[in-house]
Amino acid sequence: MIPYADRFKIPQQSDIKKALGTFDDNSLNTIFTERFYETFDSLPFPKKPWDWLAQYVEKGQTYAQHLQLSRTLHTSASSHRNTIYLTIFGQIDKTIFDLDSLIDYTQRFFQIPVKLINPFIDVQWNNETNQWTCILNLSNGKNRSFKLQTRYNEKNNHSQISVRKILDLLTKVVPMDARCLVALTMYDLYDDDTDLFIAGLARGNNRVAAFSLYRYDPYLIFNESNWFDCKMKVVSELEKEIEERRNLLLLRTCRLLTHEVCHLFGIEHCIYYSCLMNGSGHLDEDFTQPLLECPIDLRKLHIFLKFNINKRYEELLEFFQIHNFYDEIKMTKKKLDVINQPPQGMNSSAKRKRLCNVTTNDEDVSQSFTKHFKDE
Ligand SMILES: [Zn+2]
Ligand SMILES: [Zn+2]
Repeated sequence: MIPYADRFKIPQQSDIKKALGTFDDNSLNTIFTERFYETFDSLPFPKKPWDWLAQYVEKGQTYAQHLQLSRTLHTSASSHRNTIYLTIFGQIDKTIFDLDSLIDYTQRFFQIPVKLINPFIDVQWNNETNQWTCILNLSNGKNRSFKLQTRYNEKNNHSQISVRKILDLLTKVVPMDARCLVALTMYDLYDDDTDLFIAGLARGNNRVAAFSLYRYDPYLIFNESNWFDCKMKVVSELEKEIEERRNLLLLRTCRLLTHEVCHLFGIEHCIYYSCLMNGSGHLDEDFTQPLLECPIDLRKLHIFLKFNINKRYEELLEFFQIHNFYDEIKMTKKKLDVINQPPQGMNSSAKRKRLCNVTTNDEDVSQSFTKHFKDE
């Protein structure tokens, strides 16, 4: 037992089986096999006292529980909502934030259209009031100016915007066909006065969420005690370093956005595998978590979005290869190898038939069969 994580429970095989549920659908039976489950990593032990599962006891959410919830989220009245909308709040620096690739990834991940809209026409800093304001293009076509709740530290010239105010504004402009509308910003956000910062907040009932990439920039150095104590590392002019910074921010943003949109789709934190949906207590923990979901959360996404699992993995693999996400390339290839191999039973009989020509000894057949799989 780890003293700081004495309430942490290793998931038992029986818990995982129960969370996966039973399979009546034959098309899934061929994918959700023991060999497929072996391509997923186990849930790691908490490494630090401030890791999520050292701090919190999560109940976990089974496939059946999510299915029940998603029936209320996905009614016939909401069946036309098939698009994820993204919007940018304020200025972004395109040299470090690869927005086009993030949209591309989100589309591959959820296998539904992802569109960018721009209801925030302008976001400005007011020097007299030390407050952010914005102009919003409302659904009726009119523009209106709004003050944003802001906190400001003069000494460090650092400000944070209240995430709740942004959520309030988003609810005014959610498109009819939106599964959700997510605002992304490079400005720093907070919620409670005691917060160091907040990466984001989702309001599931209103289908809106807002997330800040500010603290995800690998060049940012910040003090864990004071919210206003942040500075940027000296920015490199070297092409290679700019590319590395942009790529790392992209990877972190892909993880953040898909994790949060999954929450908007009713998927709760995962306690069964090492998984995209694991909770994270701090950024270092977040940065070590995988981009892909475990089989239980894959099943939840699949029933909700009805995609072709094989095609989705192929498209994700292509994205990981374009952006050199090496760990994800390895993980996805393993899954595709297993999915694309015929089930062992079928393969076994085909192999036997062929090998019958060279041997009649069943023991030899099974030995050569085992070797065949070990070699791969
Ligand atoms: Zn979460
Ligand atoms: Zn999971």
